[in-house]
Amino acid sequence: MAAVPDLAELNRMIARFAPAELKVDTSKLSPGDKQALAKLIEAAQVIDKIFWEQRWSGNARLRAQLEKDISAHGKDRLHYFDLNKGPWSDLDGQTAFLENVPAKKLPGANFYPEDMNKDEFETWAAKLPPAQQEQARGFFTVIRRKPWREGLPTRPRNGEDLEFVPYSVEYKTDLTRAAALLNEAAALTGNASLKTFLTLRAKAFLTGDYYDSDVAWMKLDAPIDITIGPYETYNDELFGYKAAFEAYVTLRDDAETAKMKNFADHIQEIENNLPLDAKYKNPKLGALAPIRVVNEVLATGDGAHGVRTAAFNLPNDERIVKAMGSKRVMLKNVQEAKFSKILQPIAARVLAPADQNNLSFDAFFTHILAHEMTHGIGPQNNVRQSLKELHAAIEEAKADVTGLFMLQYLFDHHLLAANEKALYTTFLASSFRTLRFGVHEAHGRGMALQFNYLSGKGAFVAKPDGTFAVDSSKIKNAVRDLVHDLLEVEATGDYARAKKMLDELGVIRPPLEKALDKLKDLPVDIEPVRPSGI
Ligand code: ZN
Repeated sequence: MAAVPDLAELNRMIARFAPAELKVDTSKLSPGDKQALAKLIEAAQVIDKIFWEQRWSGNARLRAQLEKDISAHGKDRLHYFDLNKGPWSDLDGQTAFLENVPAKKLPGANFYPEDMNKDEFETWAAKLPPAQQEQARGFFTVIRRKPWREGLPTRPRNGEDLEFVPYSVEYKTDLTRAAALLNEAAALTGNASLKTFLTLRAKAFLTGDYYDSDVAWMKLDAPIDITIGPYETYNDELFGYKAAFEAYVTLRDDAETAKMKNFADHIQEIENNLPLDAKYKNPKLGALAPIRVVNEVLATGDGAHGVRTAAFNLPNDERIVKAMGSKRVMLKNVQEAKFSKILQPIAARVLAPADQNNLSFDAFFTHILAHEMTHGIGPQNNVRQSLKELHAAIEEAKADVTGLFMLQYLFDHHLLAANEKALYTTFLASSFRTLRFGVHEAHGRGMALQFNYLSGKGAFVAKPDGTFAVDSSKIKNAVRDLVHDLLEVEATGDYARAKKMLDELGVIRPPLEKALDKLKDLPVDIEPVRPSGI
């Protein structure tokens, strides 16, 4: 087992997260909604407690012990423990930073008995009647061992003593409390869609049937937007079956919602004008997946440890995704905090001083929205199957540049207030933010492809002093050419061409590598500080 970090090392690990206050404006909420918001914050804190328990059975005991140590080292340990919601560091492959705990996060978290392995589960589950098998593998049950009794073997175990326990039973006390708070909030708000969601979700906490409340969540349209319940299954590294509890208490951002509507109103026009042979274009786009822009008041549970969530897609229930799609939620003030604490310091090192004035959060966020929307346009049929493992990198690069193309189109046609310099300079700076994490995953590899392509066309320029700049006389055509190439690769499903592009361009070249080396000591993420006065 690797040595646990000393005080200096622990401080270095903590410094990777820059504290940032999340800006949110509650002044426009009705008096009823203000009271409802307080109830929902309380409910989110109950959900947080459940997640701590789901992540590791030892969390509550260890946290109580850490709280007693008031030395500097003790306080740092508690701080980092809270940041990770447990004794394993998210940014370091879930390895332990404290003594006397498992060296890595347990693959089954606290969803399964710690001494159960996959084979034992499979042997047991295979013998169950189909309906019970479904429960055993379901999102909303934990697997436990029955208390030992006469006739059960001690070892080896073959699943004879396993049983599934619904969340509504395992977490009954906390879920009953959370349900009561949701019902109280439902009584306080004047918004019908929020009232419906909260009432149905409270019921789901007690029955374990989340379907109706997930449908109500898809239809939620209210000044207070909330996501609360068991959702993602990443913490279950054994099977990926079990959902972890999380909550996002947020407020709808009306200005950005209007911007999204403007984009949606012109999306067919953008498709029609893509730089791509007409035979590959879709003359009648279907309904695009809804996108909601909100500001976070409080995130808890699985949504609040390690690298902070800035956007998510839910629900995961296939039946709902099939019937009504899923909804993408963008947390604007989290993006804003990341922009000011991470992107601005990066820009200070990779852009010339004069260009730093062109850095703009509005341009950054508008491009993120455009990126999300343009995932829904361009060739869609069989692209994933043809491009296989290359698809994700190509599709991410496509969404980035097609997003730039779309905004330029809206500027040119006076459909959006133009700010070209800000758009391209901010995009250049933000490419370093993505590239810092290497080219091993799709976003990084797709970004390297764009960076090298645009550099090859002279649109991004490396200066002798180590900074980078946009050549505004070349960027628009270069973006257009790259959009054309990527869309054509997708339209033709040309695997060999995709591979050639990624092999040649999806790499870090020396000038870029030197620039990235200069960024190593900068924070990699934020530690949200609760907005003041809430
Ligand atoms: Zn994307």
